[in-house]
Amino acid sequence: MVYIIDEDKTSSTSMPYVPTPLDLPTPVIERKTTPITEQMASRFQASKEEEEDFIKNNYVARTLLNEPQLPPVTWSNWYKHVNWPQATLLCLEPFVALYGLFTTAFMWQTVVFTIIWYFLTGFGITAGYHRLFAHRSYEAKTPLKYLLLVLAAGSVQGSAQWWARGHRAHHRYTDTDLDPYSAHKGIFYSHIGWLIFKPRRKPGVADITDLSRDKTVQWQHHHYLTLAFFMAFVFPTLLCGLLWGDYRGGYFFAGVLRLVFVHHSTFCVNSLAHYLGDAPFDDRHTPRDHFITALVTLGEGYHNFHHEFPSDYRNALKWFQYDPTKNLIQFFKRIGLASNLKEFPQNEIQKGRYTMVRKALNQFGRTITWPKGDEELPLISYEEYQDLAKKDDGRVLVLIAGFIHDVSNFIDSHPGGRALIRSYVGKDATVAFYGGVHDHNTAAHNMLAMMRVAVCRYGGEVEHLKRRLGHIQTPTPIFA
Ligand SMILES: [Zn+2]
Ligand SMILES: [Zn+2]
Repeated sequence: MVYIIDEDKTSSTSMPYVPTPLDLPTPVIERKTTPITEQMASRFQASKEEEEDFIKNNYVARTLLNEPQLPPVTWSNWYKHVNWPQATLLCLEPFVALYGLFTTAFMWQTVVFTIIWYFLTGFGITAGYHRLFAHRSYEAKTPLKYLLLVLAAGSVQGSAQWWARGHRAHHRYTDTDLDPYSAHKGIFYSHIGWLIFKPRRKPGVADITDLSRDKTVQWQHHHYLTLAFFMAFVFPTLLCGLLWGDYRGGYFFAGVLRLVFVHHSTFCVNSLAHYLGDAPFDDRHTPRDHFITALVTLGEGYHNFHHEFPSDYRNALKWFQYDPTKNLIQFFKRIGLASNLKEFPQNEIQKGRYTMVRKALNQFGRTITWPKGDEELPLISYEEYQDLAKKDDGRVLVLIAGFIHDVSNFIDSHPGGRALIRSYVGKDATVAFYGGVHDHNTAAHNMLAMMRVAVCRYGGEVEHLKRRLGHIQTPTPIFA
């Protein structure tokens, strides 16, 4: 237990029953401690060597030190560092969508298809690029791989190989400068800035040999531009045009407007999911869990869990949490297109939760003033206690469970009455307090502990044991 000496907290207004300490010496307990100056000196020496060693053996530190990054983007040089093709697409598409919204008549069939196409191309990213190709959290049959790769191309977010390479670096170097969309660089940067501007340095090394051997991924990589253009704009335009004659709506709504939503939905996983919400599994990095993020990202919003257990095919664990991508993968399994859905052992997941709950509890505990422990109190014999209790100095001393308590500030408030406490002054009231007279509640135990003024050697003497064992002089030890 930690006892915080805080004058304010022990003032008579906030805690009226805390006694004045006895004027007795506290025992000196010898602890083998190195003086703080020596500790600091050795720490400083160690830290220099350690730092060199750390840089030598730490990939992130070594890379950041040895590979200079491009100069920072400023107001005077920003145009030189813009990734113009990506910036043009990302900045223009909302305006094209707005133009379409104000100039195109709505057809309900197109509106329904736009929503369906948003989900399908979005699932291509979440169930395909993310959970299948980047994390290999399940296995998919070849037709399903092709389907997801083609759908994801319609989201216009680069090829699966490029996407997964960056995402693996994001997981491996989260929040460092080797993370391609580090949340530490601000919400704008992690959302879209990293795509608008050329990267300041290469993302950290990530192994994608599995993807470079995957024929489906390589096929998509080589035909990416054609696939993306077709799936993002040509297919929705043709479908809406040929089936119900709405070419214009197909292009503006199912094509462009849908793309704006899919883009920003995915971008929210890198931005919002690293800012909004709580960290029930680990708070050392920025990923957070939040329902709103999940809602706008097809279930990718339980990002704290995801960063802790990246190869788990689920993002949401509980039935009421929104994770349609998880449900879709389960559906793929049911129809025989997916297998080996990976789940982290529940026991290991619970350990993460436990650590965080305990951390919060410890923080809460630090806001509480705890009673003094035996090492902070003077040690006196039972006879000395009796002598002190007899003194007419205004103190009312009662021995309970090895501690001598000064209850003088409390005696008038005692629910059991003043006389009862008086009858135990100078005696061992352990049995009476622990149920002999009244089985006190936890609040009473806590309050009593705050009134400790000394420790009784051998713990005191329990009256009924003393009588039963025939002890007159020697106190009966409660604990050694
Ligand atoms: Zn992340
Ligand atoms: Zn991920």
